[in-house]
Amino acid sequence: MLTTKQLDKLIDALRGSCESLENTLTSYYAIDYTDLSIEAHQYIDDFIFNCAWCGWWCEVDEMSEKLSEQETETICENCELYS
Ligand SMILES: [Zn+2]
Repeated sequence: MLTTKQLDKLIDALRGSCESLENTLTSYYAIDYTDLSIEAHQYIDDFIFNCAWCGWWCEVDEMSEKLSEQETETICENCELYS
């Protein structure tokens, strides 16, 4: 179980990168993605999200209102501009 401080560090590492959460979790804390708690996922989701199109981690306020064609993916405002 990761502490809030550890999660903050993880968020800082991911923010503005296109690194996968899986890899970052493993390299920082040697934790498997599947072992990350729902609470931890929710905590991360409050700060950043992974754009389904460009793959970059963006701030939640950069999340596009418009969903992609499948309407199941979250995309960033930058991708919306070019869609
Ligand atoms: Zn994007």
